[in-house]
Amino acid sequence: MHFFKYRSGELYAEEVPVKKLAVKYGTPLYIYSYKTLLRHFRAYADAFNDYPHLICFAIKSNSNTSILRFIAKNGGGADIVSGGELHAALKAGIKPEKIVYAGVGKTEDEINFALKSKILMFNVESEAELREINRVAGKVKKKASVALRINPDIDPETHPYITTGLRKHKFGISIEKALEHYRLASRLENINVIGIHKHIGSQITKVSPFVEALKKLLVFVDKLSIQGVEIKYLDIGGGLGIPYKDEEPPVPKDLAKHLIPLLKDRNFTLIIEPGRSIVGNAGILVTKTLYLKKGEEKDFIIVDAGMNDLVRPSFYGAYHNLLPVVRKKRQAVKCDVVGPICESSDFLATDRVINKINQGEYIAVMGAGAYGFSMSSNYNSRPRSAEVLVKGREHFLIRKRETYNDLTRNERIPAFLK
Ligand SMILES: *Cc1c(COP(=O)(O)O)cnc(C)c1O
Repeated sequence: MHFFKYRSGELYAEEVPVKKLAVKYGTPLYIYSYKTLLRHFRAYADAFNDYPHLICFAIKSNSNTSILRFIAKNGGGADIVSGGELHAALKAGIKPEKIVYAGVGKTEDEINFALKSKILMFNVESEAELREINRVAGKVKKKASVALRINPDIDPETHPYITTGLRKHKFGISIEKALEHYRLASRLENINVIGIHKHIGSQITKVSPFVEALKKLLVFVDKLSIQGVEIKYLDIGGGLGIPYKDEEPPVPKDLAKHLIPLLKDRNFTLIIEPGRSIVGNAGILVTKTLYLKKGEEKDFIIVDAGMNDLVRPSFYGAYHNLLPVVRKKRQAVKCDVVGPICESSDFLATDRVINKINQGEYIAVMGAGAYGFSMSSNYNSRPRSAEVLVKGREHFLIRKRETYNDLTRNERIPAFLK
């Protein structure tokens, strides 16, 4: 459910016509709906209300400071995967004791930064990392709180690139080896074992993989308990899907209904790390049609948003619904909707039957709020787009469009070339 709806033939972001924003701020333009964000965040908070929990927003899905500030103001925490994300979280006012830190390649600097910031816990992904955190913590005379990320070997039945919890993946520690790792962790002097973590993938459209993975984890937690390792924080990761096309993913309430009964009578604090399911449908990318081109075999709609603005179609073959910002009687056409970038993989849609768009008209790329701007780049020396947050009738620029000068700002010319 989101608040991008047509009113007498015009697409609105809440109470504001999308076209008005596109004209005012230019395109390509990311537009977010505050009301949608709030609705999605509350859906989690309400669903898990009966069980001690912490909602740690996965910052990699969208790291705009205003979005993170919204999370902070609503009592949310953060799931981070880098020092940069830690900086962003703290700057936005997310409390360090609500921050969990995953990722297979944490550097010494990043570990130090996290220790100094007093985050809740490191989600540790290997033995080598565990030893490194122990070493770094010792150097600064601190104790690092950790959870081990367990790879439960559950297939979430989603896109291979966003599946993370199978035996063959680089993420986490296999459940067979985990006991040994926990034993090691409890022996290490500067490590404080407080949790267990898993994250099996993204855009998961069924409840069953979550249930299966949690069951596996709980069996394991009981084994740990026998060994004298007590788990306080049970972190089940993120990954709940959203409807991009015709998927009917479960909502947080469905998840809670199946998971909470398994946790009753256990004294955990549950951690959930949603990203996409909070911000995905709360954002759209608006792009302008530059040219219509009749190719030899295909027709093309050439728009001003490229794979540098939204890489998901090129990268994952992801489907995004494309809607005309002004709806009128249109002829259906089959075409590729492509960007201006010099790559054949630069497309928003291929062989898509859509309503014919004319040169100069705007298209809304739906469901672009997650892994949209946060994955954008400057490829082809394209300034990254602006971001706008709509709240009711109001709209706020939450990121300025980059300028050409921004593109070269950090470059230096060596003396011999001057
Ligand atoms: C990416 C990621 C998430 C968020 O995944 P979504 O599918 O956006 O909910 C949560 N936890 C970890 C460890 C991740 O890597």
